[in-house]
Amino acid sequence: MADLLDQGIASLAKSLARKEISSVELTKTYLSRIAAHNPGLNAYVTVTAEQALAQAATADAARARGTAGPWAGVPFAHKDIFCTQGVRTACGSRMLDNFIAPYDATVVERMRDAGLVMLGKTNMDEFAMGSSNETSWYGPVRNPWNTDLVPGGSSGGSAAAVAAHLCPAATATDTGGSIRQPASFCGLTGIKPTYGRVSRWGMIAFASSLDQAGVLTRSAEDAAILLQTMAGFDPRDSTSVDLPVPDYLAGLGQSLRGLRIGVPKQHFAQGLNPEVERLIRSALAEFERQGATLKEVSLDNSHLSVAAYYVIAPAEASANLSRYDGVRYGYRCDKPADLEDLYKRSRAEGFGAEVKRRIMVGTYALSAGFYDAYYIKAQKIRRLIKNDFDRAFSEVDVIMGPTSPHTAFALGSKSKDKDPVAMYLEDIYTIAVNLAGLPGLSIPAGLLNGLPVGLQIVGPNFAEDRLLNIAHQFQLATDWHTRTPGVAAASRGDR
Ligand code: GLN
Repeated sequence: MADLLDQGIASLAKSLARKEISSVELTKTYLSRIAAHNPGLNAYVTVTAEQALAQAATADAARARGTAGPWAGVPFAHKDIFCTQGVRTACGSRMLDNFIAPYDATVVERMRDAGLVMLGKTNMDEFAMGSSNETSWYGPVRNPWNTDLVPGGSSGGSAAAVAAHLCPAATATDTGGSIRQPASFCGLTGIKPTYGRVSRWGMIAFASSLDQAGVLTRSAEDAAILLQTMAGFDPRDSTSVDLPVPDYLAGLGQSLRGLRIGVPKQHFAQGLNPEVERLIRSALAEFERQGATLKEVSLDNSHLSVAAYYVIAPAEASANLSRYDGVRYGYRCDKPADLEDLYKRSRAEGFGAEVKRRIMVGTYALSAGFYDAYYIKAQKIRRLIKNDFDRAFSEVDVIMGPTSPHTAFALGSKSKDKDPVAMYLEDIYTIAVNLAGLPGLSIPAGLLNGLPVGLQIVGPNFAEDRLLNIAHQFQLATDWHTRTPGVAAASRGDR
């Protein structure tokens, strides 16, 4: 049974299909591991044990009847940004601490329909604003590789839960890097699909033109399986794209011979830890061994991406978060004197410091007189950034580089109140991908002083199948993705 916890979605599904284990047994194994290890990591904010066991029993019954789908009965976790009917959906915020979602997000619905078993909801930065999971109302998440370090953010709870084997996989979202950076810090595979590939319906909005749902897993194969269940057109999301979803799993067998890899010089410049660079270059050499060629490309405007993002994302956040007014749902202050006091105090007490900072920046950037100077300017830069990628993709098939300039950093070391910009620079290699709407993936590519280092692979629109196959070919030839932190290995006996 111990080895079960090392398995990902694909192999657990095989064990279930062969009836070597039931979904109820598997779910119980995970629930007891969560009970033992979550208190130290704070990866889950809600554990839905009863519902999980009921879903598992349903999956077992379907399997006994021969009507179960291929992934039925496999457990996983949802980031607490996805609305889950009847279950608290707090988005890392005091504002939504009392919010029981009245409906399921499309992603939640599709995964439930596939028979997957939700173990619970994972911790995250408040409203997905952050890169360290330290802005959560529920407290920080600890990195299973070293509990003095952050797991990355904003999907830090999902990343820590998968890395510590508190679930085999989890959903996540990425507005500027929140899937790929935690994947890098926790030694996981994480994919942010093309904007529009996965429905945002029922996913609590941060910056609507940038937000995209994806997954954190232990392999590209597992990411292919879960993305398949999530992706596809949804008429309830007006930005969802009506394009057929390729068979991601079937696409995993392609040779990389002739693949043209672009290496952006701006991602290997000042600020990159030289040891991270060495590991990324040796990953690139593995692709060359498999028959790919490397070509330097230039993303000329990439130095503007963080600045443009921190105008556009707060502008959209300030509009999206105006709905939390203390009247309709969410936090309401005690004994308001009048309506204005109700608005003011509910928002003052319900939101944390980083969220307030974004609302103020965004409101300022959108206000009359500043709109042209900031918001319109940032949108123009966004177009230039997209043009850089288009130019690069006329010469190469994918772009590769480090996901983050360094490995996981110490809790409290980049505290948002000391220097918010230091935290904002965390997403230096990932943010442009969201501004351009492109798919991006991070895979483990080495260990530096015992900590994971992530390789980022970016493709043209809707090239998820290409990215997943490239990641899979790398994982067939290397074993970085199979490395696990001490907590996952050492605690197997005690689960
Ligand atoms: N770290 C970035 C921010 O704070 C991106 C977060 C995200 O992708 N959700 O906005």
